[in-house]
Amino acid sequence: MCSASSPSPTPRASSKQRDRWRRCVTATDAALGESLGRFFVARHFAGESRDVVRQMIVAISEAFGERLGELDWMDEKTKERAREKRQQVAYLIGYPSSWRVYDFSLDKKVYAANVLAGRAFEVKRQLTKVGKPVDREEWQMSPPTVNAYYDPLLNQMAFPAGILQPPFFSARSGLAVNMGATGETIGHELIHGFDDEGSQYDAKGNLASWWEPETRRRFEARTQCVVDQYSAYEPLPGVKINGKLTLGENIADIGGLKLAFRAYRALRKGAEERLVADGFDEDQQFFLSFSQSQCTKWREERARTLLQTDTHSLQKFRVNGSVTNMPEFARAFSCAEGKALNPKQRCDVW
Ligand SMILES: [Zn+2]
Repeated sequence: MCSASSPSPTPRASSKQRDRWRRCVTATDAALGESLGRFFVARHFAGESRDVVRQMIVAISEAFGERLGELDWMDEKTKERAREKRQQVAYLIGYPSSWRVYDFSLDKKVYAANVLAGRAFEVKRQLTKVGKPVDREEWQMSPPTVNAYYDPLLNQMAFPAGILQPPFFSARSGLAVNMGATGETIGHELIHGFDDEGSQYDAKGNLASWWEPETRRRFEARTQCVVDQYSAYEPLPGVKINGKLTLGENIADIGGLKLAFRAYRALRKGAEERLVADGFDEDQQFFLSFSQSQCTKWREERARTLLQTDTHSLQKFRVNGSVTNMPEFARAFSCAEGKALNPKQRCDVW
């Protein structure tokens, strides 16, 4: 994703030009995103979708609050500030509460004229913000975008309707399935707001460090385990994952999956019976959904570049690296102790 804090597609490297219709849709989305988005939302994100996502977010935020109480590397003062920040995170779900009005007309014949009109509109819109209060409801992505972000300057998290689609989310899917995919993303983004990145910005988004130095030292000491774990992965012969480059994202992946699992279990607490689908129980569905949401195919050249430049690990290792640190995964699939995905020692940060 384009924000450093997100889980998926990085710009593609293609061997041929993308189809014309795709390029047209991309250009329209860039110039008239919220106008195009209204149609997308009406067709693909109607009904109870927003409420279902909101319920998931509340449960994950609560799971994070519980987890804060358990962390032995974080001191009490820092925890208090973290709790305050947690309460103030703004969540944008699906689409804006009021749609942007594009006050320029389109030329049906001259493409370039429309591009220029769109750019002029955007520059004017940006300049109009100068001197006015910050709008924490403003979206930085259009509704159809398959992406999500956490913005530390606004303490704001956004999930466009585009990523709230199968295989990431569906209002008709079971809770375990939604939590394994979208829930993990929510947890991942939330952790960024409180980790070594997020600790530099307070609850209002001001550049003000709020971690006590001792907490920072303990955090760094703990993260060496994650560096070592991922540095041992070798996706291509002779090319290993750079455990330091990908550290922040790996920590967020592991922590995000744990939060989502805890939240899913909390919401299912007291449920009469466990649901089984296609022979898989709910815990198994949770982990399968997580792994399917990361399913990606790269050409080798691209994978090689990503391994050296991307702050995220390659998807297969985002999955294996995360589940390796969860005993719940090993129990769900009866992995024998000492196997690759059920090691004797695990990393535990968030
Ligand atoms: Zn991230």
